[in-house]
Amino acid sequence: MDMRCPSCERRVDPKAETFPFCCTRCRQVDLYRWLSGDMGLEHLDDPDPDPESGAEP
Ligand SMILES: [Zn+2]
Repeated sequence: MDMRCPSCERRVDPKAETFPFCCTRCRQVDLYRWLSGDMGLEHLDDPDPDPESGAEP
């Protein structure tokens, strides 16, 4: 049986801790994608909005 990571489509060991993903990173990427698609957010790439940075005159 040849399982593939849904994120990067690399081969994954079914016994892997991160199954069905090849690694934690791919799992997060897929979760992130799922969340943004489900919630329709478009500003997730803004990591830490700093209120003071936009307060300059
Ligand atoms: Zn992967």
